[in-house]
Amino acid sequence: MTSEELKQFKASLSITAVAQALGVEVVRGRCRCFYPQRHVHGDRTPSVSISEERGSFRCWVCDDVRGDVISLVQIVKNCSFTEALDWLVETYPFLLPGGGKAAVTKMATAKVSVAAVPEPSPKKELIPEDDRKKLILNFLKMLSPVDDTPAAAWLARRRIYKPVWDKMLLRTIVDYGELNRRLKETYPLEILKHVGLFSEKGNLKYYKHPLIFPYLDEGRRAFYFQARAIDKTVVPKELNLTGSVPYPYNLSALDQKVGWVYLCEGAVDTLTFLNQKINAVGIPGVSSFKVEWLPLFKNKSVVLCLDKDDAGRRGTEYLQTVFGQAGIRTIVLGEGMENIKGVISEGQDINEWFGGKK
Ligand SMILES: [Zn+2]
Repeated sequence: MTSEELKQFKASLSITAVAQALGVEVVRGRCRCFYPQRHVHGDRTPSVSISEERGSFRCWVCDDVRGDVISLVQIVKNCSFTEALDWLVETYPFLLPGGGKAAVTKMATAKVSVAAVPEPSPKKELIPEDDRKKLILNFLKMLSPVDDTPAAAWLARRRIYKPVWDKMLLRTIVDYGELNRRLKETYPLEILKHVGLFSEKGNLKYYKHPLIFPYLDEGRRAFYFQARAIDKTVVPKELNLTGSVPYPYNLSALDQKVGWVYLCEGAVDTLTFLNQKINAVGIPGVSSFKVEWLPLFKNKSVVLCLDKDDAGRRGTEYLQTVFGQAGIRTIVLGEGMENIKGVISEGQDINEWFGGKK
């Protein structure tokens, strides 16, 4: 596990869910101190506060009872950093970057590489965050609308049509060579590599991933995107921009008004719902869901529509817990729903369910 992966893994964990999994009773962001003997009345009135937002905990009496989700496991289980991380990886394999499938190999490597990198150090920034955002914004402006391109045909086969392309500002790379050249003329190569647009070899990464899904913010601007292959032989199908996902795909669905929102995996499933005029947001994977996003779901009830495979099911259970703790109602797609007929079958995804073709 690299330090970036460790950061992502930690960010996707709900510290409250972890505390509860460890048998700690958490009530309204508080729990009893793990050293009750140091407190009067055995800490009958809980002194430890737990912050979901910051992913940390702190005892207001004991100076040494504080830290992040890994320190929490260390204190409660009285174990080392490595043992605590191993326990988290075994308990939440589906939250690992790359999903549950990679869990087994990740576990084997976690010990070695984490020991070598004890504390993830912040990556040195070559450009200020504001400039990085401007660069991504400018990159997206250089792209073409999907109309009359191979990407349009690909989307139409999946029953995703023009009103949705326009609403979500879908973009495509028509002339890869020209775009590659133009970017290199506009920005230093080191910067292009640093922000994750260019490969180590010095070329734009999306040669085989020409369909671009921008993650629009409230102002319909995007500083994050996913790139999709439209040739089905290409692996992986999607490439995420380097760095953490700032908010779910189709943020505009989270408008703080009372109602339902469908939470699915990936941009394609989200677009499929939007084409059916169903309010939906997407996350690249369960591991990219961040508990700090919970306030965005205020006033919503959430229909969980993750893939119907093992990783998806474990992810669904986890999200049910996390949303439940935040007081947000969830139901699982296909379970007790009257407004949609049928149930997604094993291995099927949302797009196929709505009649899309691969
Ligand atoms: Zn204490």
